Amino acid sequence: MSLAGRRAIVTGSTSGIGLGIARELAKAGAEVVINSFTDTEADHRLAADLAAETGAPVRYIQADMSKPRDCRALVEKADGCDILVNNAGIQHVARIEDFPEDKWDAIVAINLSSAFHTTAAALAGMYERGWGRVINIASAHGLTASPYKSAYVAAKHGVVGLTKVTALEAAGKGVTCNAICPGYVLTPIVEKQIPDQMKAHNMDRETVIREVMLSRQPSGDFATVEQMGGTAVFLCASAADQITGTTISVDGGWTAL
Ligand code: NAD
Repeated sequence: MSLAGRRAIVTGSTSGIGLGIARELAKAGAEVVINSFTDTEADHRLAADLAAETGAPVRYIQADMSKPRDCRALVEKADGCDILVNNAGIQHVARIEDFPEDKWDAIVAINLSSAFHTTAAALAGMYERGWGRVINIASAHGLTASPYKSAYVAAKHGVVGLTKVTALEAAGKGVTCNAICPGYVLTPIVEKQIPDQMKAHNMDRETVIREVMLSRQPSGDFATVEQMGGTAVFLCASAADQITGTTISVDGGWTAL
């Protein structure tokens, strides 16, 4: 399947799942805009390297997804898009009583509100062209909960709700909106949690991975960024024209338990 002639924006895509999705979209021929909140030489080099690797045009556009104006400016600077992947996300783990207010606000802004602002900016162009895909990266935590992740779980459930509303408003206009719900994928956001879990459980790295993290993932394996990219590319295919307003779990069976 070729995505040549389609422009994709992937938010928060200088690492992890976002970068994996950007790579698979570029390999399928899409013009891709990658994004993060920084504006370094390394960010622009990453875009150039991805372009060289895939043969697709790839640009880096700086925008801070915690800021509504930046979210909308990202879509404007890209000159609109046919495929919008709302991926940027952060995590913080603490009991509700101890959860810092600024962390709550940042998680809700980056993981949930940014998807609203970019979608609001992108839809009109998609409607005009009669084709579009909004792909929200939610989580198994958009469908289930874990203790100590109040802001993350609340934001990801919100993303699933936003996905359904976007799908209903876009229905009949050639535009679909779906959420991908990954289980654990070994990316920087997960790597950062391993030392804390080792300390909290007094376990070594391998035991934490096997008995704490992957205990919820019946397959016993991490999902991969390539699998997230492949799922996103599938959602862009004509086979997915009538798939809208739904969640696709890529979680090794987590939500089947
Ligand atoms: P990651 O930390 O590798 O990637 C997060 C990306 O978001 C980074 O590129 C970072 O630069 C960017 N980002 C952070 N704050 C930003 C901001 N203010 N503005 C713009 N960009 C910003 O983590 P990841 O695992 O690749 O996570 C990507 C998405 O997948 C997140 O929404 C996360 O919640 C979701 N997810 C991850 C897992 C997992 O196991 N890794 C599981 C389920 C869902």
